[in-house]
Amino acid sequence: MNARTKIIAGNWKMNKTVAEARSLVCELQGRLATFSGCDVVLCPPFTALASVAKLLESTPRIQLGAQNLHPAPKGAFTGEISASMLSDVGCRFVIVGHSERRRYFGETDAFLRDKLLAAVSAGLHPIFCVGEELADREAGRWPDHLRSQLQAVLHDLPPSILMEVVLAYEPVWAIGTGRTATPEQAQEAHAFLRQELERLHGNSVATGLRLQYGGSVTPENAREILAQPDVDGLLVGGASLEAGSFASIVLSVE
Ligand code: PEP
Repeated sequence: MNARTKIIAGNWKMNKTVAEARSLVCELQGRLATFSGCDVVLCPPFTALASVAKLLESTPRIQLGAQNLHPAPKGAFTGEISASMLSDVGCRFVIVGHSERRRYFGETDAFLRDKLLAAVSAGLHPIFCVGEELADREAGRWPDHLRSQLQAVLHDLPPSILMEVVLAYEPVWAIGTGRTATPEQAQEAHAFLRQELERLHGNSVATGLRLQYGGSVTPENAREILAQPDVDGLLVGGASLEAGSFASIVLSVE
């Protein structure tokens, strides 16, 4: 990966049949045909990974990601998917620690750390999500919250693992709510994360890691958020489900 090339990822969550996924990808490929200004990652549901992988063979700049993985390499984990299965189907990225997984599936920091390590061992880039709840934002406790999420999962990892990670700042109060962080709030949180990375892991990790913002990103607000010096990309949920809006977010990378 190039150092801090902008990266826009679409998290489709539990949406799209195989046919719908295929049609979204084809339309995106058309709209982004001449664009090479950043890395683009699509994270369809598991059921669509294989057919999306096939379509993406013709546009290597658009890469495949998964939304989840299990940390074990294989075995009796009914319903789960391992890192090597994702890599085998063509994934290069995998989302780890999304607030919906933390909230609805009780995923703990220790479990997320295992997932992140499993992902990197299989050659995947984890998109590791952190972000505070509204109460923490309103009480001014967001830095403590981010510090503890970061520390719990990344604390003693070597740079060789950390440099494979994309860190996504996703304030929980902004996800799917239509309430986006202001560009200033996003920059402040990203700068704080970089400062914490520097404290924990030194300057080359802090300045080399790519940081994404996620939370109600739209074609209208993408450009201003992306213009912030510590924001290297976006993790997009709702607006990635439609080719026009996702392409226009990608095209807002300068
Ligand atoms: C997300 O789920 O990662 C996300 C950012 O969703 P949305 O863009 O819909 O807020």
